[in-house]
Amino acid sequence: MSRKLFLLAMVVSSCLILLPALLVRGCDWGLTPSLPNASELVPAIPIVVYIEEELVTMDLEDYVKGVVKAEMPVSFHLEALKAQAVAARTYAVLRMRAFGGSGCEHHPGADITADAQRAQAFASGAPADWGRQTYHYSALVEQAVRETDGLIVTYDDYPIDAVYHSTCGGHTEAAGDVWQQAVPYLLSVECGHCSHSRYYRTNYTLTWEEAARLLQVAGASPGSEIFRIDKTSASGRAHTISTERETWRGLDFRTRLGLPSTHFNHEVCPDVILFQCQGWGHGVGMCQYGADGLARSGRSFLDILSHYYPGTRVRPIFHE
Ligand SMILES: [Zn+2]
Repeated sequence: MSRKLFLLAMVVSSCLILLPALLVRGCDWGLTPSLPNASELVPAIPIVVYIEEELVTMDLEDYVKGVVKAEMPVSFHLEALKAQAVAARTYAVLRMRAFGGSGCEHHPGADITADAQRAQAFASGAPADWGRQTYHYSALVEQAVRETDGLIVTYDDYPIDAVYHSTCGGHTEAAGDVWQQAVPYLLSVECGHCSHSRYYRTNYTLTWEEAARLLQVAGASPGSEIFRIDKTSASGRAHTISTERETWRGLDFRTRLGLPSTHFNHEVCPDVILFQCQGWGHGVGMCQYGADGLARSGRSFLDILSHYYPGTRVRPIFHE
């Protein structure tokens, strides 16, 4: 859908769903980082979420709270939690049918699924490991969502595909080097703020036989090099990898071997293959640990979002 059509759909949907109280907050959050008490101005926006084989309708802001709880450690800095809330809301709005999105491709009638493998993770209640901190942590999530109420990340006035990942390991990855299509705001950017992640540098070991079985080159000589990296991306990740049988995309190779990321060095020993990996996840968009690192260095959620989604603006869902 074109941008104009999307905006038209937004207006029509909002009129149908929200009736007259519709807000027109004409401010531009990219230029005006002060925060009014917006919660009283934003009416409930229903979203249909597929959760454990049921279609559940809830307020978008409640959905965002559940995503923040599930997707980011609540011990992260408040500004990082706020950046996560805006990213989660944006990710949902892009897909919501009320805003012209296509809804969940796997479950008719749903806007989005709570399946973390296909969309964003979602926690209905408090995570079990919160324990006696549940009240305190819930208040933090509430605050992060309330203080970003109704805000989304836009590019050219259109909500972005606000993908994110745990730990980039130093540089994020351009979407065009991971998926099929380049995206102007999903570029490789320097991070340098996620070194406190346990996934920043990790070692991973596979037996040679297991790697050969997974890559379907069992006929190769034990202890030999069974793959080679043909091409690396600008951020240093494996883009294309070949075996004697076939060529793998980096993402598929990582999935097949169960590696934390496609950013690795490796060493073939007689019995095992050693991988030294950087980061965790696909590496595209916001680095969550990097968001926390930036927040702890004094940066706001607006700074964080503009860093990981270059060229974008944070704006209210409804604006002039
Ligand atoms: Zn990072």
